[in-house]
Amino acid sequence: MPTAAKVAALQSHNVSVDYKNFRALEGLNVTVNPGEIIGVIGPNGAGKTTFIKALCGHINLSGGHFTIADKRLKNGQNRQQLIGLVPQDIGLYPHMTARENLTVFAQMMGIKGLKTRKEIVSAALHDVDLMDKQDTLVSALSGGMKRRINVAAAIMHNPKILILDEPTAGVDIPARDSLHRLARSIATSGKAVLLITHELEQAEAICDKLLILAGGQTLAFDTPANIMAQNFSTSREVVVRFSSPPDAPTIHALKPFNFSQGDTATEWSTLTNASEVSFVSAFMASLRGGNDIVREISVRRPGLTHLLHSVERTGRLPKQPSSESRND
Ligand code: ADP
Repeated sequence: MPTAAKVAALQSHNVSVDYKNFRALEGLNVTVNPGEIIGVIGPNGAGKTTFIKALCGHINLSGGHFTIADKRLKNGQNRQQLIGLVPQDIGLYPHMTARENLTVFAQMMGIKGLKTRKEIVSAALHDVDLMDKQDTLVSALSGGMKRRINVAAAIMHNPKILILDEPTAGVDIPARDSLHRLARSIATSGKAVLLITHELEQAEAICDKLLILAGGQTLAFDTPANIMAQNFSTSREVVVRFSSPPDAPTIHALKPFNFSQGDTATEWSTLTNASEVSFVSAFMASLRGGNDIVREISVRRPGLTHLLHSVERTGRLPKQPSSESRND
């Protein structure tokens, strides 16, 4: 069946941003369709916040332009109607109920008429699955629920784009999962969702595409599967967990396999292109009987966490050739 030509929710055309003579974002080109969740990731200083501030019109562009639903945004143009922003800080009134908070936001958004406001607030509470908490004081809600109120506030005026800035920072795992499910249901309702996040495994699992920034440059804009395949194709990550921190002879035996220590003294990992069986048997043989301190060996496909470690170390993706130095 022929489909109508899709109008992109957001396009960034060669967007650059300078702070005085420091270039924080360089020639960003992305197209985001309604229904997509885009993960915006990168080390600190990558340009993620600059991208969002530029899109929201909080700072001017030095070059290029954005379009939202095919309409070109002008410097200084108010984009409140087009974009819903959920900031990191929860700006809610603790002594007011969930419904009262949203009513205040609806008034601030210029949503006129008592009846309309009531309906819009009800719809937003419904969308974020908090109807049963509408009369609860915000101070009595959990961190995850407060985030959902913030999401409700950002979607009440039906924007084309929803920006979630670290929505899951500091919330527990069930609340995190429920916020990610909420992001997906909002995308499915036809909005484009930009998710700025440090939750890399989650980003890999839930985002349709990832925008990887470093030093203001775009390192990748593609599906998580394509990015991982391009960078790690046949590589596997081998993780060894020891029952106690390895002694000097064990560390010596690990050397030829390029193991490096992980988050704890007992966890070590490396990348290999060899078959799993031959790698593990060669490694165990090298321990020469000292292998009773090995508690667990796991072999897995390298994930986004591994990729970002590489970006943090080198400023580029594992399979990208090094480029000329920047920003100087
Ligand atoms: P991220 O959000 O990815 O951590 P930012 O967009 O905040 O990165 O910052 C990108 C770069 O721009 C960093 O090097 C940062 O120091 C610099 N920067 C951010 N804001 C300003 C500012 N107001 N003035 C000068 N430099 C800034």
